[in-house]
Amino acid sequence: MTEFSERVEAVSISGIREVFEAAGDGAINLGLGQPDFSAPAHAREAAVEAIRDGRADGYTGNKGMRPLREAIAAKHERDQGIDVSPDDIIATAGGSEALHIALEAHVDPGEEVVFPDPGFVSYDALTKLAGGEPTPVPLRDDLTLDPEAVEAAITEDTAAFIVNSPGNPTGAVSPPEDIREFARIADEHDVLCLSDEVYEYTVFDGEFRSPAEFAETDNVVVVNSASKLYSMTGWRLGWVHASPRRIERMLRVHQYIQACASAPAQFAAEAALTGPQDQVSEMTESFRRRRDIVVSGLEDIGLDVPTPGGAFYCMPEVPEGFVDECLERGVIVVPGDAFGEHGEGYARLSYATDEESLREALDVMAEAYDAVA
Ligand code: PLP
Repeated sequence: MTEFSERVEAVSISGIREVFEAAGDGAINLGLGQPDFSAPAHAREAAVEAIRDGRADGYTGNKGMRPLREAIAAKHERDQGIDVSPDDIIATAGGSEALHIALEAHVDPGEEVVFPDPGFVSYDALTKLAGGEPTPVPLRDDLTLDPEAVEAAITEDTAAFIVNSPGNPTGAVSPPEDIREFARIADEHDVLCLSDEVYEYTVFDGEFRSPAEFAETDNVVVVNSASKLYSMTGWRLGWVHASPRRIERMLRVHQYIQACASAPAQFAAEAALTGPQDQVSEMTESFRRRRDIVVSGLEDIGLDVPTPGGAFYCMPEVPEGFVDECLERGVIVVPGDAFGEHGEGYARLSYATDEESLREALDVMAEAYDAVA
């Protein structure tokens, strides 16, 4: 009889979904990792026009349409001052597929992948699906990833380490000196640094820097996505950029699992990247306001919470039973251990929801805290 593969049996459906299912209708959802804005109007319009004119009906080249890749290259030049050729970019089905092809192309069975714990749920699962060995590294008290801890975790069996700043689930932004260190580690240990930069545009404190700015070898692969940059999670459009030899290997995987990213989404993303950028700053300002409301609200309740410098998440330390008490009272938050062993004792709150709901949720969380503290 056909059995399921060991690789697929090693992963399970994300714990986050179970939390949604446990909550009743009308709950305030602080569990969702997506901005509550529409995509920029000019992006939506570009896709509609392309569809109406019959320009979005066929496969595009495997790497994606040239104008989109030129727009992505121009974005990296504009934002990081790095020279990326449109030939060294693959448009993917979101950052998720970009992470998948990067790991498939670089990880052999039994090789280790080092990543933050708590960290984005896909790192562990995609490592296992690639046959690799997840090697989670605990974070510092301020929830940033410590380059020394990463370096100490690297062995001769390490295929890659993953950096994610601003981070999910923590919202933490690594300082530029740490980003520079990650590049040095990639260079000196000749190990791949997979930089997941999907929250690049949501930075309130500090600044966004990429290891690709500092590395002297081609050991950095960058993953990014229109999902969080432009509030386009449903469009499924991300990308990867790397050196020609790495792009060629990732293209082998992408070609067979995806052929090409969705053509309408490619038109929309190109317009988002080349059109007016005012929505980006509006979104960031709005997330900053909400961050301030949530952090000061949690502190008033008596919870310890490192102030997140970016993304739209925060991770307070919570007493046992807190998450369930919130759920019972109609506020969805995700238990920290859904993001790794070291997330235990924390909860992840996404504040990508309106201010009124946030204030209501804080009142409920105060009651939940009183019930268990
Ligand atoms: N990387 C991180 C850190 C994320 O939080 C997410 C989504 O939540 C992704 C990558 C993938 O996003 P998408 O596939 O929508 O681009």
